[in-house]
Amino acid sequence: MNTTQSGGRVDYWDYITSQRWYDKSAAALYLADYKCMVCYGNEALSVHHRTYERLGNELMTDLLVICQPCHNIFHRFRRLAPTPTENGREKSLNRS
Ligand SMILES: [Zn+2]
Ligand SMILES: [Zn+2]
Repeated sequence: MNTTQSGGRVDYWDYITSQRWYDKSAAALYLADYKCMVCYGNEALSVHHRTYERLGNELMTDLLVICQPCHNIFHRFRRLAPTPTENGREKSLNRS
């Protein structure tokens, strides 16, 4: 692990692929009882960041366990903070 930390900022992709995030997202899934917090489904769950303010040091309340369909809907309606890649995509969609 060789995370470059300038001013405490964590690189999103470095972090999201780290053991640390793996453990944290596993804990979030556990706390959510392995269910989507929106529809209680349990398919293709992912752990979404409500905010990236504390990336690397998230509070459990910064995280949202959500299934893929709900995730897509939420991002479409911009109810959630987009991830860096989603941001680029959504921006171009929005400006057209
Ligand atoms: Zn769902
Ligand atoms: Zn998301």
